[in-house]
Amino acid sequence: MSNSNQIILSASGLAKTYGKGPTAVDVLKEIDLQVSASEKVAIVGSSGSGKSTLLHLLGGLDSPSAGTVMLAGQNLHKLSVSKLDQLRNHNLGFIYQFHHLLDEFSAVENVALPLRIRGLSNEESMERASVMLNAVGLAKRVQHTPGELSGGERQRVAVARALVGSPSCVLADEPTGNLDTETADGVFDLMLDIAREQGTAFVIVTHDPIRAKRCDRILHLERGVLKTFAQ
Ligand code: ADP
Ligand code: MG
Repeated sequence: MSNSNQIILSASGLAKTYGKGPTAVDVLKEIDLQVSASEKVAIVGSSGSGKSTLLHLLGGLDSPSAGTVMLAGQNLHKLSVSKLDQLRNHNLGFIYQFHHLLDEFSAVENVALPLRIRGLSNEESMERASVMLNAVGLAKRVQHTPGELSGGERQRVAVARALVGSPSCVLADEPTGNLDTETADGVFDLMLDIAREQGTAFVIVTHDPIRAKRCDRILHLERGVLKTFAQ
């Protein structure tokens, strides 16, 4: 595997405390994590253990109480808002449990959005979005709005949107948590297939141990620290 030792996303000494004084909750205490290019890391942990909080910090959507996150060689929390947006737009994709697509936009417009934000022309963005929708098996659904799609189809659109800009890493927070088992399997397979083809790294929060096992590494978040999951 080429570039397998290149670290594209890393956290060191990462901590997050919500609230202040006696009601403060230390959700993350001392998180160290290194994600290599094209590596797939699963994060498991009970509900409320801080998995979403960790992904938010890794994606620069929230600030840590201590520690640093490096993405593509840059310290996320030292960047201006516009530089952070730009770095994120080029290097990260996000997939959530609920699709977070824009309801008034068609599938292809939703997928084209990250490219439009990047500054590509409407024509090129729409073209690349169509290719991506084709790759996730939705060639016949490009003009549908999210409301006209099934849950599994909506998540496929979300996968296409996360990957359309060829980011170095995708952060996925229980991406199949809202789907029935069979549909979830399809979406999960598709996500890993495209990631493999594009060499995209993935950090995936999942409740499902069988899906977690399909990743290169499983980490368990417990009491604010990450441990290698004993299989
Ligand atoms: P998980 O995704 O593993 O279920 P979360 O990261 O969502 O866990 O939440 C971890 C803990 O942090 C929970 O106890 C939750 O109540 C708390 N928490 C999450 N977000 C906030 C917030 N914005 N303000 C205060 N507490 C929060
Ligand atoms: Mg969560």
